[in-house]
Amino acid sequence: MASAKSGKTSEEKNIAQGFSWDEFAVELAGSASGPLNLGAACTDRHVAAGRGDAVAIRWIGRHQDRRNIGYDELAAWSGRIAAVLSELGLGHGDSVAVLLDRVPELYASALGIWKAAGVYCPLSGAFGPGPLKARLDVGQARILIASEDLYLRKLVSSRAALDGLRQVLLVRAEDATGPLPEGCLDFKALVDGATPMAAHSTKAEDPAFLHFTSGTTGTPKGVVHAHGAVLGHLMTGRAVFGLTEADVFWCTADPGWVTSTAYGVIAPLVCGATLLVDEADVEPRRWYGILHDEKVTAWYTTPTAIRTMMRFGAALARSYRDNSLRVAASVGEPLNAEAVSWGAKALGVPFLDTWWQTETGAIIIANAPGQGRRPGSMGRVLPGVEAAVVRCEDGAAQMVTDADTVGELALRQGWPAMFSRYIGGDDRVGKCCRDGWYFTGDLVRRDADGFFWFVGRADDMIKCGAQQIGPFEVEGMLMDHPAVAEVGVVSKPDLLLREVPVAFASLNPGFEAGDALRAELLSFARQELGAALAPREIHFIAELPKTSTGKILRRALKARAVAELDGNELLPDLPPCPGRFDDE
Ligand code: AMP
Repeated sequence: MASAKSGKTSEEKNIAQGFSWDEFAVELAGSASGPLNLGAACTDRHVAAGRGDAVAIRWIGRHQDRRNIGYDELAAWSGRIAAVLSELGLGHGDSVAVLLDRVPELYASALGIWKAAGVYCPLSGAFGPGPLKARLDVGQARILIASEDLYLRKLVSSRAALDGLRQVLLVRAEDATGPLPEGCLDFKALVDGATPMAAHSTKAEDPAFLHFTSGTTGTPKGVVHAHGAVLGHLMTGRAVFGLTEADVFWCTADPGWVTSTAYGVIAPLVCGATLLVDEADVEPRRWYGILHDEKVTAWYTTPTAIRTMMRFGAALARSYRDNSLRVAASVGEPLNAEAVSWGAKALGVPFLDTWWQTETGAIIIANAPGQGRRPGSMGRVLPGVEAAVVRCEDGAAQMVTDADTVGELALRQGWPAMFSRYIGGDDRVGKCCRDGWYFTGDLVRRDADGFFWFVGRADDMIKCGAQQIGPFEVEGMLMDHPAVAEVGVVSKPDLLLREVPVAFASLNPGFEAGDALRAELLSFARQELGAALAPREIHFIAELPKTSTGKILRRALKARAVAELDGNELLPDLPPCPGRFDDE
């Protein structure tokens, strides 16, 4: 980076000086450069250390059914899954797509895929058939592991068009009877009959997991991480959450989001803690009960979930204040200071904000013990990573050394959890990695004490709760409807989800703008894209505003979206709002 002056505070320099990633590699693999397998690091290592009896996963089903899985059981189960995948011809670095809710098979499959040297590619059940098919295509999935229900509802019709997909393994409901859908194998029958296989001796740089982020050009981009990312999860599991074998750790992320892989699978298991999994979606009364009854000590959730809990009011929260929580943290969007202090009042611990992205693979900036805390900020950069605020001046990136100056957040390349490559779409690596730095696309400012404050995205992505929505993906699908001539999708501010996608459409001749067509388009979008990606509102417009080069003028649409506050279907999935937390 041109004329870079160090923007680090003296405290950051001190932390960085005494820090070495090699120590974590030696702990996991016995040497700094030897073979490293994520699946083995999360399971077999603990069994070899005599901790096979400890509970690795405590699972609570949607209907309160429960299951405890020990480290020894998980090690053997994932070894059998690895054997089945290898037997089915999974090659080194081949990807396995997984379409499962938060059920035990999801976690065992991830570990089994890693042991078999495959690439774990979890997909969100909230997506509709179109986005799922696109992700299977781009990810070049060779094998799909799915629940029978999700497969039948969302993928069976695209199966014939998925050329690279060789096998489909279905996880059936316990009471399922009758034959399996055509061309599918029974996951349980195959795995139960297999003999556990030893984990492959993968290298730290071998690919291990693949997540998708929607880009601005329409096609979802795959972000690939390697086995060595586990060093980042071990370090941050300890530095941010203080995880030890005594902890019960709960991460509420959807399986399709990188947070679920990094902190809903890897970090707690590699630290030897008990991973608590709740199959159900956000339901504050249930969540308070779980925090209390399961003696959760460390919790990782999102501002959207926190805001939902806040809306349920103080009385409910206070009745569960007697809990075992030691640390509660948040990720995905800015966490306002009010939410931080609400955590302290309602649950007895403040919510600590953390920042990272799919590409960074692990937490990079955090309010964490030993790092200091500043409510409303994302926190300070963690050890082992160098962060800078940069501005583009005269065509060259310059580090900003003055406090509180807004610029793009850049990270010096080379931390272990950094993504290794993109797949699909154009060459974005060339655009975001320059001169040894990774440019995050986020605008931030750093205060005089080294705390980072989020300002916004540099591009037009729509951040809706935990989802990053690329406007072009939504627009492309709406254009498939015969009534739509042109369409622009932009974000609209939302109190709960931060932003929601709204669409502005002009119509083809012969179609009449009105409530009937609006309802039809909304339902078409939900069916094709799934509720998570579908626009919440559709406005009809005679002609879309354009730039002189013919590009849709998004700024103008955004202004209009804010002005159009009433009149359309708004957030139909919101939970009831019985009242806010009243400050004492
Ligand atoms: P994803 O890669 O989908 O996890 O999204 C990463 C993006 O989410 C970041 O680039 C930020 O724009 C946003 N983000 C994540 N954590 C935070 C945070 N603590 N505060 C503000 N924005 C965040």
